[in-house]
Amino acid sequence: MVAELNIEKIRKDFPILNTTVYGKKLVYLDNAATSQKPQQVIDALDTYYKEYNSNVHRGVHHLSQRATNAYEASRVKIAQHINAAHSHEVIFTRGTTEGINLVAACFGKKYLNPGDYVLVSAMEHHSNIVPWQMIAEEKGAGLKVIPMDKNGVLQIDTLPALLENVKIVAVNYISNSLGSVNPIREIIAMAHERDIPVLIDAAQAVPHMKVDVQELDVDFLAFSGHKVYGPTGIGVLYGKTKWLDDLPPYQGGGDMIKTVTFAKTTYNEPPFKFEAGTPDISGAVGLAAALDYINEIGLENIAQHEHELIKYAEEKLAAIEGFRFIGNSPNRAGAISFMIEGLHPFDVGELLDKQGIAVRTGHHCTEPVMDFFGIPGTIRASFAFYNTFEEIDTLVAALKKAITILK
Ligand code: PMP
Repeated sequence: MVAELNIEKIRKDFPILNTTVYGKKLVYLDNAATSQKPQQVIDALDTYYKEYNSNVHRGVHHLSQRATNAYEASRVKIAQHINAAHSHEVIFTRGTTEGINLVAACFGKKYLNPGDYVLVSAMEHHSNIVPWQMIAEEKGAGLKVIPMDKNGVLQIDTLPALLENVKIVAVNYISNSLGSVNPIREIIAMAHERDIPVLIDAAQAVPHMKVDVQELDVDFLAFSGHKVYGPTGIGVLYGKTKWLDDLPPYQGGGDMIKTVTFAKTTYNEPPFKFEAGTPDISGAVGLAAALDYINEIGLENIAQHEHELIKYAEEKLAAIEGFRFIGNSPNRAGAISFMIEGLHPFDVGELLDKQGIAVRTGHHCTEPVMDFFGIPGTIRASFAFYNTFEEIDTLVAALKKAITILK
């Protein structure tokens, strides 16, 4: 059953939300860039460094065992959170970017050949375009793109023809610059009919909804800890066992090996095969605390509150003179991107900042999306479960004020 959130109580867990900016109470609407951290996450990092900071998988001593246990317990928690069949299918990374680079490098090295294609969508973050371009260039392969319509909805009826000569599909679950929720189940099913694996960039999905990798039957899925109320510097790449066993390692170094001689190295089993060097141990500990925190609140309750926030914001914002949605998918989550007719997004963003409101302006690392709409950038308000309806009213009032000043 979905329960209403006690936002006032929840907000007390986030010390930064009490900050004032230019004498105004902070209204933080840049959650798609990074979300704020509850005290529980800050405390987990603090306790780690104060009580059991040590390297993992190496020492026989007490602290090292405690750090190893916490690091591996985090992996198990993440596996449960995304319903992975095995905890070894969870690889710790620096974030979504590194997860995608890992798959592009390892999969591309083994499977891309001249004449092959990687299929991405028209609304990918640069981190789900550039790594594929880099490996494609090296291997003489190319990139194909699933088109979108003017509302920011992917045109998946183009898929059957596009999938010709495609070796891997890489698409985002939710667009960071448009807020569109993409039909990834259909995309995965169509790709699998042709035995093509799929990577999902779930950076903007994991903070807002239940993501079940077995139910999706996805081959790879990447997300970032810092967008899901965890620390920066830690991320997750999920990979099906069959792929992790099959692919070559990413980086070489400590922990990813079984044996080393100057003549030959044999590699460790997944996940360690893909985790060379000392990992972000405190980050893993902090991410586990973040997942505990949101699970305590309940993902369904979070999704429901955010859905109501978005509906409210859509309605209030659309009534502003000169307001134009950039991306208006009927299936939206997390973010609303927009322009105000005749005004540069950056100027509007600056005036919102002066009123204590944090939004993001610019291309949001999706330049092809901006090219598609023929605009330099958008203003993006992105939401978290600690945001309130009053904050949306504040945004609307501040926008009207900014328009009066700029026009
Ligand atoms: N993909 C999407 C959809 C994103 O929103 C982001 C972050 N803006 C990334 C990838 C990259 O994430 P990170 O910078 O944490 O690696």
